[in-house]
Order: sequence, then C-alpha cells, then structure tokens
Amino acid sequence: MNAPVHAAIAANVPYYQPVADECAVFENAWRHQLPVLIKGPTGCGKTRFVAHMAARLGLPLFTVSCHDDLSAADLVGRHLIAGGDTRWCDGPLTRAVREGGICYLDEVVEARKDTTVVLHPLTDDRRILPIERTGEELAAPPGFMLVVSYNPGYQHVLKTLKPSTRQRFVALSFDFPAAEVEMAVLRHEGGADEMLARQLVQLAGQIRRLTGYDLDEAVSTRLLVYAAKLIASGMDPRSACRVALVEPLSDEADTIAALLAVVDTQF
Ligand code: ADP
Repeated sequence: MNAPVHAAIAANVPYYQPVADECAVFENAWRHQLPVLIKGPTGCGKTRFVAHMAARLGLPLFTVSCHDDLSAADLVGRHLIAGGDTRWCDGPLTRAVREGGICYLDEVVEARKDTTVVLHPLTDDRRILPIERTGEELAAPPGFMLVVSYNPGYQHVLKTLKPSTRQRFVALSFDFPAAEVEMAVLRHEGGADEMLARQLVQLAGQIRRLTGYDLDEAVSTRLLVYAAKLIASGMDPRSACRVALVEPLSDEADTIAALLAVVDTQF
C-alpha cells in the first residue's frame, strides 16, 4: 500500500477507550514483528481494539471470524474456476501477508486444527507463508502482523490452543473495563448521559457478581451499549434492560426473574 492510502486509513480511527497499556504493548509488538494473542470474554472490546490499532498504525486489516469448518484454504486461498479458466484467489491471510497488513483471526480456537499449522511459519522468526498449491513461499514484509483472539470462558479440553501454538504469541488479557472506562464507552458509543452511564455500569456490576444462576456469559460491554442506545433514544429503561441485558443472557425463567429483580434496583 502507498503512503496516501495509509494516511487515509489513519484519519478514520475507530473509537477505542484504552483500559491499561494495551495500545503501547500492541504497537511495540508490531514494531518488533511479534504476533499477538488477545484473550477475554465476548463483547469486551477485542475486535474494536484491533480495528483501532490497525487504523492508528495505518495498516490494512483482514478480519476472519473463525468457525469449526474453517480450513487452511479459507485462510490461504484456493483455485477458482471461472468461465473454463482456473485462477488462484488469495485468502485473507495471504492478502495480509502480500499487503503488509494485520490478519485478525477472531475466536481462533474454533478453527480446524490444520489451519493453525499454516500459522506456525508466520509466527516465528522465519515469517514466511508457504502456499503449497501455487508453490510460492511468501516472506512477510515488516508491516505484517498476525493477531488472534479467543474467549477462555468458552473453552473445554477439545477446544483450546495447543501450547506449541500459544507459545508463539505475545498475550494480552482483556476483561470488562473498570467502571469509569466503561462509562466513557457508554457515553461515546451508546449516547448515554453521565447518570445513565453510571446506572448501567452499576447494574452490570451487580449482574456480574450474581452467583448461583445458570449464566454462561457475563453481561458484556456490547450489551450495555445496546441498552444505552435504546434508553437514550427514548425507550423505557426497564424494557430496554430486559431486551438488551436480560433476555440475551438466559433462557431460564428463574434466572430471567432474578436478573429483572436486579434491574428493578437501578431503574
Ligand atoms: P469482542 O471482540 O471482545 O467480542 P467488540 O470489540 O466487538 O468485542 O466490542 C463490542 C462493542 O463494545 C464495541 O462495538 C464497542 O461499542 C464496545 N466497546 C467495548 N469495549 C470498548 C472500548 N474499550 N472502547 C470502545 N468501545 C468498546
């Protein structure tokens, strides 16, 4: 990519409210050509952080949401047949390597095991991507960076990163932000005023501390942003909390009742 394009990307940096020193760590890792692993619960800002950093560094970003059918060819590329011709089509990983950008694999543990093997030569000091099908071996330019994320809360023994893969990354641990930071996010992203932001963050704290109920996931910053948007645009706060914070968390009648009781203490 040329410089004007980089400048254009950098001018449009997605909003990200830093929690600690993660921006400096990421930038430092990129300068040293180190891959980064981000772990943390869903909806806590991992994807937004990567988008923010890519724009700040003026790098093109290729994001892949991993799933259990994702193969190495989905990342690297494949031959496509068009009008009787066969032509090679780069996958997002290959494009990131060719263009010197960031390849972000969201929920990487969902991907099939053969896909992580493709990553290995890119995550050590060789920094190469061998493309078996075309016989090419691409050397990653300095701008290229591999970033992966996963939610350790979801894991069970069959779905975790192999130690041999994990140990190739600098790892950042994310969690829901501290109250003041989360309030700033709700004000900026959800259009909440100071008071609403405080109420929602207090409510989230109460729900996150709730024990004894069958909750797979804690209420995320993403869901709080949804609630803030609905309330800020005039919806009744209790209804907004029910649809944005309670129903997405559980299908169990008891749990829903308990969560609604917590909502009633704030609104
Ligand atoms: P994850 O990738 O961890 O599942 P996202 O990055 O998609 O979560 O975050 C979900 C939403 O929460 C974002 O779209 C954004 O509105 C908001 N958000 C969470 N944390 C932050 C933060 N620190 N700064 C700005 N927005 C945030």
